[in-house]
Amino acid sequence: MEATRIELEAKDIPTHWYNVVADMPTPPAPPLGPDGKPATPEQMGAIFPGAILEQEMSAQRWIEIPQEVREIYRLWRPSPLVRAVRLERALGTPAKIFFKYEGVSPAGSHKPNSAVPQAYYNKQAGIKRLSTETGAGQWGSSIAFAGQMFGLDVRVYMVKVSYDQKPYRRLMMQTWGAEVFASPSPLTETGRRLLAENPDNEGSLGIAISEAVEEAASRADTNYTLGSVLNHVVLHQSIIGLEAKKQFDKIGLYPDLVIGPCGGGSSFAGIAFPFLADKASGDKRAEKLRCIAVEPSSCPTLTKGQFAYDYGDASGFTPLMKMYTLGHDFMPPGIHAGGLRYHGDSPLVSQLFHDGLIEAVAVPQLATFDAGVQFARAEGIIPAPESCHAIRAAIDEALRCKETGEAKTILFNLTGHGHFDMSSYERYFAGKLENYDYPADAVAASLAHLPKPG
Ligand SMILES: *Cc1c(COP(=O)(O)O)cnc(C)c1O
Repeated sequence: MEATRIELEAKDIPTHWYNVVADMPTPPAPPLGPDGKPATPEQMGAIFPGAILEQEMSAQRWIEIPQEVREIYRLWRPSPLVRAVRLERALGTPAKIFFKYEGVSPAGSHKPNSAVPQAYYNKQAGIKRLSTETGAGQWGSSIAFAGQMFGLDVRVYMVKVSYDQKPYRRLMMQTWGAEVFASPSPLTETGRRLLAENPDNEGSLGIAISEAVEEAASRADTNYTLGSVLNHVVLHQSIIGLEAKKQFDKIGLYPDLVIGPCGGGSSFAGIAFPFLADKASGDKRAEKLRCIAVEPSSCPTLTKGQFAYDYGDASGFTPLMKMYTLGHDFMPPGIHAGGLRYHGDSPLVSQLFHDGLIEAVAVPQLATFDAGVQFARAEGIIPAPESCHAIRAAIDEALRCKETGEAKTILFNLTGHGHFDMSSYERYFAGKLENYDYPADAVAASLAHLPKPG
């Protein structure tokens, strides 16, 4: 029987994360504070521990993964690399399609790869409690799990509509011992003010971030955690690509294409950057490698955004980051891939895209569910709506190979399973899902308010 699932052993879990900053032709622009000057570690120290800040600013190529973190990674890592032979057959393509499956983590996605080290470094720094926000609940559940592993209290501000509509993600967090509050909540200044104005406020990610940051900034024993975008999150996610490289080595193959969904960019960076390292070091196998970030056509940050300084949150609390952005007050249409509804993108992904080292495509919602269902029926795994974006692009590339007769090796990141997203599939099957056009007017309006630093 041909090996279609390429396994590694516990001893193969990487000992170091890879930091792409060491290999970037243009170093990333620094984040700026409210005064337009580079943000100082002191400004950010109120909500992050020193070890995380150090990683955030580091240009060191390899950063050691603490033993305690590797032991928890061991609960689900190394994650499998699978050759999708049944999907290849269904498509009739000469391409070889592989996926790296991150849905095997306790929370069901790649997000615990960063939640675990974030909880660890906070514990080391003497922090007792973590605060965070969550929209659909994927990051909240990852940090609830990670906090529990290190005995930290976790408080999650969950956007009110999701709190009411997604009880199972909320219950997952509560099962891992986290406290979950509908945001806006009566626990913070921001929440109390908004509730006084309108007791029926349904909340937004921007409001939930404000509440979580306010709590962390106002209490010495509490820090804030973020699930994507920032450099340290990108660093932690490199474990995905590092393992994938070992798995390809095992079978003597090397990908021509590396594809991942892109919201804040951390999982795409995680699978792609370790391969870019080969390009940077002149490895012949990586000469023709292409890395493709896949985003929704309704929230096309890389393909239609501007490369400019902008806030990371809707309310303008965070430092300014140089990134591709649709404008911090752009409100994306309500697509079902909640994890891809972000106005900005990781500054590292942005800079590399700007320099032409990676590519991006945008795909419409219905086509992503078509791809997700085709994948589920061939390979069994029901993908998260975010992951369906990568599957769409991988299938499109495989079909192109069918036309040209090229037998390319395609790798995509299956970032999570869709077991908590079945109501989205229900709408798809009922013919109720729609394609949203690119909201050109809303983007133009939002880009007109980009902050002008300095
Ligand atoms: C959060 C999420 C994403 C998108 O976030 P990135 O930071 O861009 O990786 C993709 N897939 C799943 C399953 C997610 O939960």
